[in-house]
Amino acid sequence: MSHAWFATQRYGIAPAPCGLGLVQDFLNTVGIHDYPDLLDNTTLADEWAAGALAAWSAVRGIDVQQPALTEGDLAKLRSLRDTIAKLVTGEPMDGRGTGSVSASFALSDRGDVRLEPSGGGWRWLAAALWGEILLGQQDGTWRRLKQCHNHRCRSTFYDRSKNNSGVWHNVKTCGNAANLRASRARRRERDRASSSATDTG
Ligand SMILES: [Zn+2]
Repeated sequence: MSHAWFATQRYGIAPAPCGLGLVQDFLNTVGIHDYPDLLDNTTLADEWAAGALAAWSAVRGIDVQQPALTEGDLAKLRSLRDTIAKLVTGEPMDGRGTGSVSASFALSDRGDVRLEPSGGGWRWLAAALWGEILLGQQDGTWRRLKQCHNHRCRSTFYDRSKNNSGVWHNVKTCGNAANLRASRARRRERDRASSSATDTG
């Protein structure tokens, strides 16, 4: 059984194209509803990394030696996840939080130039993620990676709509729930307005 992009698939979300799937899967390690945070402990994190890096290795054609992750690495990765999530939602960046990570240029047999992550632990994963974000920003796929607007959800999805206007990871579940809340709030507002009108009238 394949565990490719497991973090994303557990939320019933279609993966982003090619290597951007790694960034999406990393963001979806966050625990939503009853699902665990996959960066909460090394057992869960190792299991997630094994699946995600196998999938990434397959799409990028890069041999991956899965980095060993300590509790310290996980703290760094959770903070990196917050930083990348802010990038996705378009919050202003203060330039901090990227840490110092590096990648090196390599050539494939077919002559494709590749960025290969360097270092160990969280640095290796961070280099792989920044490399994918760089490529996505260049080819226009990055702006389609979005966080669901349902504040109770916040899963990361890839917007395949024609004009890149999607805001819900799933219109049926998150979109309708939000519409329902909004209409309830409007009704409460109306009720309050009419009762205060009665009071003063
Ligand atoms: Zn959602």
